[in-house]
Amino acid sequence: MNDCIFCKIIAKEITSYKVYEDKYTFAFLDISPVNPGHILVTPKNHIKNIEEADEKTLCQIMRTIKKIGKALKDGMKAESYNVMENNDPIAGQIIPHLHFHIIPRKKDDGLILWPQKEYNKGEAEKISEKIKNALHKN
Ligand code: AMP
Ligand code: ZN
Repeated sequence: MNDCIFCKIIAKEITSYKVYEDKYTFAFLDISPVNPGHILVTPKNHIKNIEEADEKTLCQIMRTIKKIGKALKDGMKAESYNVMENNDPIAGQIIPHLHFHIIPRKKDDGLILWPQKEYNKGEAEKISEKIKNALHKN
């Protein structure tokens, strides 16, 4: 049995404030919004994270994100929005069904994004090489 809460929302076994659905994706209000109008966009299939998603699914998700972003600007008078995805638990993913957060933003809304760091001398070169080598293996 699938205990996934988002699968249950998509199947309408649990109620949600759905704003959009198509053959591949489902979008609904986050129950604990960062800002009013905070939307979650999910694939209808149970996919855990980005690596598990095929390219077609990722394209469909991005297509829905674009629609929602425009609706937030037009319907919520959002001046801007953030698109975020917590990929796996250490990154903050609590529900293990891939979903993207679309967070409407207004000037001076008080939301502070992540603090940034600096690279030590030579560190950026080493790190970029590690990532490039891993990419060549794909
Ligand atoms: P994440 O930490 O990226 O896995 O985000 C999970 C999000 O799901 C959180 O922002 C929750 O507020 C939201 N959430 C959990 N349960 C529900 C629900 N029943 N309906 C709408 N949003 C939910
Ligand atoms: Zn699921």
